[in-house]
Amino acid sequence: MKLLSGKTALITGASRGIGLAIAQKFAQEGANLAFTYASSEEKALKLESELNQLGIKAKAYKSNASSFVESTQLIEDIAKEFGTIDILVNNAGITRDNLLLRMNEQQWDEVMETNLKSVFNLTKNITKIFLKQKSGSIINLTSIVGMKGQAGQANYAASKAGIIGFTKSIADELGSRNIRCNAIAPGFISTDMTDALPEDTKQEYFKQIPMARFGSPEEVANTALFLASNLSTYVSGQVISVCGGLNR
Ligand code: NAP
Repeated sequence: MKLLSGKTALITGASRGIGLAIAQKFAQEGANLAFTYASSEEKALKLESELNQLGIKAKAYKSNASSFVESTQLIEDIAKEFGTIDILVNNAGITRDNLLLRMNEQQWDEVMETNLKSVFNLTKNITKIFLKQKSGSIINLTSIVGMKGQAGQANYAASKAGIIGFTKSIADELGSRNIRCNAIAPGFISTDMTDALPEDTKQEYFKQIPMARFGSPEEVANTALFLASNLSTYVSGQVISVCGGLNR
């Protein structure tokens, strides 16, 4: 029996990177998948067709996670199409890095809305479904930067720290209804987000990471699988770092 057979998952931002790897991992473990993207239509439709070939049901939705209205509509559409939702992965995220002296209001607002408000938007809208079925697993992608800070990323670090507070609060509010809420804090993972870093910056990071390499999206997806499945039925309110030992 596969770990997620008979379950339906919603993953935000699965057209690339970590979200894509989580979608592939969940589908291999038997989950039906609804996933979103912001603009990468071609990649999303390619993934949709690849996942459907695994014998599960998968559907891509273009939906801006930072919009409350679009998130409400999205949950309604998925509930209609799939009948139910069991797992929510709040993965969509962006960076708009700059030192505070140069950071403008737009860079602050875009990051807070995409990374943090999105988590409220999706979680708030899905909660009535989870309450009705008396179960649900919510997995939020934070970052070790949300715990230790990072020069040039005050907006990103603040959004990711906010996700940790939100995660722990929702675990407290909804635990008695058998709804779990956890966060994953990746370190440096090889995706478009980190590929943009200059080579000398990467080399500097390698020196600080005990495992001396960046992680793969699949290594984050394995932790998401644990939190989504019945292997973690008594795990809630936790932040699990997947960072090669960097955060300790
Ligand atoms: P990525 O490769 O840049 O992919 C980001 C994904 O989010 C894409 O699918 C993108 O869709 C989607 N997205 C962006 N804005 C969106 C919006 N407004 N609405 C819906 N979807 C949106 O990023 P990643 O590296 O996989 O990161 C995934 C998550 O892990 C993020 O929350 C990130 O902060 C976190 N994280 C990453 C690392 C790392 O080292 N990579 C480390 C710590 C935490 P489009 O393709 O359509 O743009």
